[in-house]
Amino acid sequence: LGPTICVGEILVEIMATSVGEGFLAPMDLAGPYPSGAPAIFIDQCAKIGGSAAMIGAVGRDDFGRLNLDRLAADGADISAIAVDPDYPTGSAFVRYRADGARDFVYNIATSAAARLGWTDRVADLVGRAGHLHVMGSALSMPGAARVIERAAEVVKRRGGTISVDPNLRKELAHDAATGRLFSDLVGICDLLLPSGDELDHAAGAAGTDAALARLFDRGVKEVALKQGRAGATVFAPGCPPQHAPAFAVTELDPTGAGDCFGGAYVACRRLGMAVPVALTYATAAGARTVMRRGPMEGAATRAELDAFIAATPRIAP
Ligand code: ATP
Repeated sequence: LGPTICVGEILVEIMATSVGEGFLAPMDLAGPYPSGAPAIFIDQCAKIGGSAAMIGAVGRDDFGRLNLDRLAADGADISAIAVDPDYPTGSAFVRYRADGARDFVYNIATSAAARLGWTDRVADLVGRAGHLHVMGSALSMPGAARVIERAAEVVKRRGGTISVDPNLRKELAHDAATGRLFSDLVGICDLLLPSGDELDHAAGAAGTDAALARLFDRGVKEVALKQGRAGATVFAPGCPPQHAPAFAVTELDPTGAGDCFGGAYVACRRLGMAVPVALTYATAAGARTVMRRGPMEGAATRAELDAFIAATPRIAP
């Protein structure tokens, strides 16, 4: 029915190589790495196969080039990524604390990503799309939120499907209008991909059973719950839950695991794979991501995932 599309921020990520709090002194940094949750999702989607296209904006600078080159090399359609002559590509500085929490310094609000809007190229792509994946993080940018709202209407009208990853980032403000749009999108989505307390938040109900009942009542057909080192579980109305344990790997940088999991899961399902097969590829994609520094560096082709799956034990439940 047409490509999988995702709308939102394209950034570079620059990360501290030492664990600690904040950025209040000079320190060694690694990067820039291509990043932005929607871009990571699309990159992993494209690497699996099937067609995947990104709607976003970068500056006319090296950070933009880095992202465009990576996405194109990995097979994503970049025709609807605008190159803004006046504003720079967005950036995120990240540092891990000893307890695994992350400190971020974002520049999105004054970047090209914040000026993302509906263009002829966007209209053309959305008019051909078969699936829209929504990243909650993108909804905090008014321009992207408007494009997502319009794209959701078009894709639904032509019989396409929608998935939502709540991807709530406390550093990116969410106001009441954003909250309403998020809730509306959850209400029309086919597949929800939450992690942790995002399940309860998206459902507006407390506890897994109540949250799932509420979501299925609203018409959601499948929930893929991401559980970090505990793997992932897929729930669907009237079916027993299907669980996949995580792969046993050494975690270096967890950023991007959920986005790569989602990209692989959506691509596999759209290629017609059954839930357990898609779950295996998605948990493998998530695990590969945490082994490497940089959120998009673990994104993998199906052949690379097959080799990883054959060589890597699962964490015992
Ligand atoms: P993020 O917001 O950091 O991108 P998330 O919270 O959305 O991630 P996670 O549950 O952390 O999502 O990760 C997605 C999937 O990646 C998990 O379901 C799991 O299969 C895999 N994964 C994540 N962390 C690890 C890990 N340390 N070891 C092995 N697999 C992991």
